[in-house]
Amino acid sequence: MQAYQSPWMTEDHAIFRDAVRKFVDAEFVPNRERWIEQKRMEPEFWRKAGEVGMLCPDVPTEYGGAGVDFGFDAIVYEEMQRSCISSFGNAIQSIVAHYLLVYGTEEQKHRWLPKMATGETISAIAMTEPGTGSDLQAVTTTALRDGDEYVVNGSKTFITNGTNANLICVICKTDPTARAKGISLVMVETDGLEGFSRSPPLGKIGMQGQDTCELFFDGCRVPVSNLVGLEEGKGFYQLMAQLPRERLIVGLVSVAAMEAALAITIEYTKGRRAFNKAIIEFQATRFKLAEKKTETRIARVFVDYCIERLIAGELDAETASMAKWWCSQKQFELASDCLQLHGGYGYMTEYPIAHYFIDSRVQMIYAGSNEIMKELISRSL
Ligand SMILES: Cc1cc2nc3c(=O)[nH]c(=O)nc-3n(C[C@H](O)[C@H](O)[C@H](O)COP(=O)(O)OP(=O)(O)OC[C@H]3O[C@@H](n4cnc5c(N)ncnc54)[C@H](O)[C@@H]3O)c2cc1C
Repeated sequence: MQAYQSPWMTEDHAIFRDAVRKFVDAEFVPNRERWIEQKRMEPEFWRKAGEVGMLCPDVPTEYGGAGVDFGFDAIVYEEMQRSCISSFGNAIQSIVAHYLLVYGTEEQKHRWLPKMATGETISAIAMTEPGTGSDLQAVTTTALRDGDEYVVNGSKTFITNGTNANLICVICKTDPTARAKGISLVMVETDGLEGFSRSPPLGKIGMQGQDTCELFFDGCRVPVSNLVGLEEGKGFYQLMAQLPRERLIVGLVSVAAMEAALAITIEYTKGRRAFNKAIIEFQATRFKLAEKKTETRIARVFVDYCIERLIAGELDAETASMAKWWCSQKQFELASDCLQLHGGYGYMTEYPIAHYFIDSRVQMIYAGSNEIMKELISRSL
């Protein structure tokens, strides 16, 4: 059978993939266990990744990126899954960069994007609060104007890159009396910021090396020039317009994790023996793997279609929501089935399949839960 090749892949993408793979194997993989133990990776690895072009490659060169297409960004997510690294929060960096790119003023783009591309700046996006997640319009964190500053009060939870971030895109109400129309995106620079604090990294059942924490804003004063696009009340619409990209990234990560988990499981079942046979020789095993291979290919073809649409500037919210919910659901099912085929070894954290399994669970929850995805799709019925 012919090997499948993503239609958006070119020779330049292949060269970039090779460089990313070498870098990840040399710099990330040897540190994977330590990052899991300490629940975060150190900022110096962000700067190393920036040096090889792994951060914000699809940001134009005038703002410090490589000016290439989303395919290069996609390769970084894929290589992270191939090597079972979930500590690197580069997807969030890419998402924040795109809010700035699309809605920021020239001054804001030049101020923040180049250092995000080098990894000197690490960003986070703070939407979720202890009291609200799916219902984004109900956020209660406020940014109220006082002269040339906003005074930010409130708290956020489950924030990826929360410990390392020094630039946080905070979703807050500039008009607390309104719902969607009261929401604005305010960039908070945290170095030396009075009234700002963070919790220690939160303990999670999966993605244990990824830095996730709570953030507290107690009268933090932020210049009004940090309001994304300098117009109040636009935040909800800015978020909605960019969410397809974020949701495609989750779908893509799911597919890459499926491909990686399936490959190691095929190898394992060829090597492990029971009843004088390799595990793969049992028809039950082969049929299960055949089903998983089919689902992985279907997911890949659909995600590649979405990537092509995104590169063409034509990915709609409904299609991206389909990619997010379906691929993350299939990822979870595949990880569970592949773990089963490893027997007891699959339950041992020493074996990568255990990580593919525990890391898969959250994909159905964040970036808009899968129920919210179906809600969005159902509006077009
Ligand atoms: C590891 C991790 C990292 C995260 N990173 C970030 C981050 O970087 N930034 C950030 O802002 N947030 C982040 N989140 C938060 C995440 O986006 C939210 O957890 C998610 O949006 C769900 O919100 P919630 O937890 O408040 O659940 P709730 O909104 O309370 O939902 C609870 C349940 O009710 C369901 N539900 C809610 N509304 C509906 C509805 N209308 N119809 C049907 N079912 C519904 C949900 O699907 C869910 O099953 C992260 C979460 C985790 C676990």
